[in-house]
Amino acid sequence: MFKKTNNPGTVLIVGETIDGRLSAGSRDLAKQARSIAEQIGGEPVGVLIGHKIEQAAQSWSKAAGISVIVLDHAQGRYPNPPMTASGVEALADECSPLAVCFPHSMRACQAAATLAWRIKAPCITAVDAIFKENGHFALNRAILGGKLCETVSTGNTPMILTIMPGIFSRSASPDGPDRSLSVETRLVTDADQRFIPQAVNSQSHTDQALERAQVVVAAGRGLGGPEHRDLLDAAAAMFKSAAVGGSRGACDQGWLPHTRQIGETGRTVSPALYLACGISGAPQHLAGMRESRTIVAVNTDPKAAICNAAHYAVIEDLTVFLPTLRERYDKMTIKGETV
Ligand SMILES: Cc1cc2nc3c(=O)[nH]c(=O)nc-3n(C[C@H](O)[C@H](O)[C@H](O)COP(=O)(O)OP(=O)(O)OC[C@H]3O[C@@H](n4cnc5c(N)ncnc54)[C@H](O)[C@@H]3O)c2cc1C
Repeated sequence: MFKKTNNPGTVLIVGETIDGRLSAGSRDLAKQARSIAEQIGGEPVGVLIGHKIEQAAQSWSKAAGISVIVLDHAQGRYPNPPMTASGVEALADECSPLAVCFPHSMRACQAAATLAWRIKAPCITAVDAIFKENGHFALNRAILGGKLCETVSTGNTPMILTIMPGIFSRSASPDGPDRSLSVETRLVTDADQRFIPQAVNSQSHTDQALERAQVVVAAGRGLGGPEHRDLLDAAAAMFKSAAVGGSRGACDQGWLPHTRQIGETGRTVSPALYLACGISGAPQHLAGMRESRTIVAVNTDPKAAICNAAHYAVIEDLTVFLPTLRERYDKMTIKGETV
């Protein structure tokens, strides 16, 4: 699997499965794999952890355009960060990679940190840019809720990285028609008995309205209180296929249920229109909506990070903008015009 001659260095791309299926973060990482490896200057090789996951591995390999090594063990049926770390450590011993890249999720951060500690390598999380500077690698990541961008440089390899979703995405296709992709399964023989994931159950809500909606009207702490929740419903009602969601800030306040939280630890949406009202645009929020086709931010602060991520920014108090928008819509529909 690892090329011995003229090998520029390997970049391990690590994905996970949950009960045989690829996690959302792993599907996203597949789209980014080849671009990430190109930035680092190495050859990407996928590593997928799970149990009885040949089918998932084939489709991951095809989506990423890379060959994949499956690490299989019954204790890998559900996400198992310690097992991931020790399995990838063995592969790192074998191929001395330039970098090991995980998706930026809580579970993957746990595996990345454990691996970094075990092999004494630098661990840099939430990476959103990679470049080379004077023979060193420099990596960017957003800090302080997206208000500042930090650059970290390292001369050490392997670097252990967690990659923000949707940053290096491009349509992943093999380099040429002859590119052959292989999937090799290796059985993990010794799994850590101190951490045995037993089950993963879906939340009692199975509401898919957010994911299916063509328009998502989302609110953050700028909503100011539950008394303004009606403004969101009124805006959503202007569209045939719309749903209301929110930032963790708004959900933690109890203004919206946690099942409606969008972001890294919430749900991922990619509607035709994302209307972000009173949301600052922290990286963890952007992680769940960055792929929306058109993003409109409504915010009183023109320097809010969401304004950089948005295609259009309305610098206005949402309690002024949303009623005005609805009023204008009502007038147009009374006149028979369409919006
Ligand atoms: C491990 C981890 C995971 C996380 N996961 C998530 C996640 O999944 N999803 C998520 O959203 N966050 C997540 N967060 C939290 C995230 O870092 C931010 O704290 C959160 O997104 C901030 O929410 P907010 O934008 O609503 O609030 P704030 O950051 O307080 O922003 C409020 C915004 O509203 C604007 N505003 C104020 N009043 C008005 C008004 N009247 N009209 C218009 N604009 C107004 C302000 O200018 C400001 O930009 C996570 C954090 C951590 C550490």
